[in-house]
Amino acid sequence: MITAEWKPIPELVGYLRGHQKVLLLGCATCVAECAAGGEREVETLAPLLRMALAKEGSPVEIITGTLERQCEPEFIEPFVPAAEGVDAIMSLACGIGMQLLAERFPQIAFYPGVNTTSLSLREAPGLWTTRCAACGDCVLGETFGLCPVSRCAKSLLNGPCGGTRTSGSCEISEDTPCIWNLIVERAKARGQLDRLSAVRRPKDWSNSPAGGPKRMLREDLRP
Ligand code: SF4
Ligand code: SF4
Repeated sequence: MITAEWKPIPELVGYLRGHQKVLLLGCATCVAECAAGGEREVETLAPLLRMALAKEGSPVEIITGTLERQCEPEFIEPFVPAAEGVDAIMSLACGIGMQLLAERFPQIAFYPGVNTTSLSLREAPGLWTTRCAACGDCVLGETFGLCPVSRCAKSLLNGPCGGTRTSGSCEISEDTPCIWNLIVERAKARGQLDRLSAVRRPKDWSNSPAGGPKRMLREDLRP
């Protein structure tokens, strides 16, 4: 899922200061799963912001809502009347949902309520760990289903850096597994260690986020 975390309250208060009526909008999908932007978080954050703004003498009316998905236009349209009369929108969706919302209401001031942080797996209650960096050329088929791009601190593709701890953790912290240690262990368990010493094709980074904005065009799906 896409994970996100609330921005610090003083930053949010700074955005809303001076506005009259604000729509605080959540999304019931990924950000709800990671307890940052679902209905519960919207209804928790709204009174905190109202109180903080009132306390400093600049009260703001904050109305709330939560869309099924902020990243799909058809879920935004039924909510358009709710935005009437507001002079700012703050979104708790991921960066994708936020930008679609801002595109739909270009005439209204727009603010992010969260920082979008990663593509992660919920490993345990309250713990999400990164699994993918959307690199555009997946190598999981060569690394036994474990991603060195997003899970190695150096995104190394050809083996460990030498900093692996004897415990098997990454040198950056004891609670971060060295992904290359896990890859080697999984290769060993399958009796396929030799696959890791094979010369592999160079990874194609041209489709990675570092290469600039991407377009995915599927002619078969176009009208
Ligand atoms: S190799 Fe790239 S696409 Fe595949 S899981 Fe890792 S970051 Fe994601
Ligand atoms: S210790 Fe392992 S996971 Fe950490 S940077 Fe080195 S190879 Fe990557």
